[in-house]
Amino acid sequence: MKDIVPPPPPIVRNEQAAIQALFQQNVMPTYARFDIVLSHGAGNYVYDINGKRYLDLGGGIAVCCLGHANPEITDALTKQAQKLVHISNLYYNEPQGRLAAALVKQLAPGKVFFCNSGAEANEGLYKLARKFGHDEGRFEILTAVNSFHGRTLAGIAATGQDKVKKGFEPMMSGFRHVPYNDLQAMREAISPATVAILIEGIQGEGGIAPASAEYLLGLRQLCDEKKLLLMMDSVQCGHFRTGRFQSFQRTLEGVPGGETFMPDAISMAKSLGGGMPMGAFWVREPHAELLGPGTHGTTYGGTPLACAVALRIMEVIERENLAENARVLGDWLKSEITRLAAKYPGVIKGGRGLGFMLGIELVEREKIPGFAAVEKTSSIQFVNRLHDAGVLTIPSGAQVVRLLPALNLTRLQAEEGIKIIESIAASLS
Ligand SMILES: *Cc1c(COP(=O)(O)O)cnc(C)c1O
Repeated sequence: MKDIVPPPPPIVRNEQAAIQALFQQNVMPTYARFDIVLSHGAGNYVYDINGKRYLDLGGGIAVCCLGHANPEITDALTKQAQKLVHISNLYYNEPQGRLAAALVKQLAPGKVFFCNSGAEANEGLYKLARKFGHDEGRFEILTAVNSFHGRTLAGIAATGQDKVKKGFEPMMSGFRHVPYNDLQAMREAISPATVAILIEGIQGEGGIAPASAEYLLGLRQLCDEKKLLLMMDSVQCGHFRTGRFQSFQRTLEGVPGGETFMPDAISMAKSLGGGMPMGAFWVREPHAELLGPGTHGTTYGGTPLACAVALRIMEVIERENLAENARVLGDWLKSEITRLAAKYPGVIKGGRGLGFMLGIELVEREKIPGFAAVEKTSSIQFVNRLHDAGVLTIPSGAQVVRLLPALNLTRLQAEEGIKIIESIAASLS
């Protein structure tokens, strides 16, 4: 038989396999991705390229705070894109100024620096601390065991988990890790070189662990006493996710002395841009001008486009009372997880977290008969079962499944999610 020259292009019968092949050949394998190719979304649902619908309870890891294809975000994005996308920080632009004012108004007198990611926001905090202690020769930053602060070289040095450091030694110096929620350990760890303490209000990658009210108040007192900066990484737990702008505001509600608590600096990202890549850090007076002209910068930080989107997101959250929604529905979700733990103790140990930053703590893999045969952690296996059933969630460590939904999740959607989570728990017990 004669060959046809040139041969016809291959018929792509399975787009999913073809797209995954593009990744295998061309994208660095730094992520263990799930076998799902997503195509589009609407509100709190996303669709894969085969047309399957998923309820999104992961929010793109706490990023998509208004869900997918939100018309307000699209409107802000397109309107601003028609005017001015980027001009660099050599000039002033209105959206950046207005967004900075909106963030300052939520916190306390101070100033904001805009950047492009959580890790980059934290880099700003490290530089702030170094500058603060420079003339006294102080440089050391204490962070928590099990913390997560991003994947840059300083970020992995700051992160209190060995797995992110492995293979990248020597670590950048100047960071030490101290057990979380242990005030005495922190006090004892302070050395003459210590200049700052950096903690998450709720550890996210560390498995949803909230700081206690006593810990926060104690750290503030300790930092004042030892002349240290108290810095908080609010990249994941911030932006109204817990029912208040900052998780510490929720944690300290009704606690004597809580209403006046304020850290010296806060890093933000994730929900701040709702999917536009952006980060920021806020620094309180009198430290807000420590980083003066020429000391720090980033080309894309605070573009009119990103800031217009972030501003609109803050307007929508306020107008639609979404912080309250996260608080009320989040509390309901947590009570449901607690109910499931009581009903299926062989699968679910309990629930943790605040508002829409929740963790479902699972039983160890070996103790769940349906999971024991497969090597993968119980969190990954549970997340995979939820995928089959049409729900997206985020694993955190070996035993925690995270719920980080959009702030506009509805009661019906929350009920749908719980029903499916319960059906998986029931099938495993
Ligand atoms: C996600 C995250 C970061 C890193 O943010 P990137 O935008 O991925 O650089 C830092 N800190 C915390 C607490 C996070 O959850």
